Amino acid sequence: MEIVFATANPHKLEEINEISKGSGIKFILPPDGFNPVEDGSTFEENSLIKAKEANRLSGKMSLADDSGLCVDALDGAPGLYSARYAGSQAEKIEKLLNEMKNKSDRRAKFVCAMTLLAENGEILCVKTGECHGQIAYKQAGCGGFGYDPVFLVDGSDKTMAEMSEDEKNQISHRGRALRMVLEFLKANRQVNL
Ligand code: IMP
Repeated sequence: MEIVFATANPHKLEEINEISKGSGIKFILPPDGFNPVEDGSTFEENSLIKAKEANRLSGKMSLADDSGLCVDALDGAPGLYSARYAGSQAEKIEKLLNEMKNKSDRRAKFVCAMTLLAENGEILCVKTGECHGQIAYKQAGCGGFGYDPVFLVDGSDKTMAEMSEDEKNQISHRGRALRMVLEFLKANRQVNL
């Protein structure tokens, strides 16, 4: 079974295919011209916007995700604006560590919402995965991407950037949301899991 995954980022597509390997599903990139305007006010709304655009362009079953980092002491920021919080990824991390300099409450979570649309555009399911942790005082590790080097995963002594890809996929917000979508497909569309 092929499902269009609404991203222009081949690295993310690889991660999704790795998490779902053995399921009989192959996620593929959307056709050229995929450039949705992500102006929703929640992760769920943005994932719906992206899934609709992928479905409109391809006419195929489409899955989209929208994710971000929500920090308690910053009232949920950077949240929906995680990708646009500062210029480069290094600058985003620097800004975050600066804003957190005098905060003792370091709690944070990664959130990932996923929306799955049928070939005819009908919403099949919306699932949200979370991964809870703490903002570290300094960076550690060089794996992953984004805020991984400053995100200490609850129940572990590692940042996400210190984990192997497999370890991260087991506990990540995206891994959790995707497994819920796969469970849905298994129950409704005869997919092997
Ligand atoms: P998007 O859902 O791909 O648009 O992700 C938005 C932003 O959230 C990314 O640019 C990253 O800065 C951040 N983000 C999302 N998922 C992760 C993750 O697994 N690790 C680190 N940062 C992430």
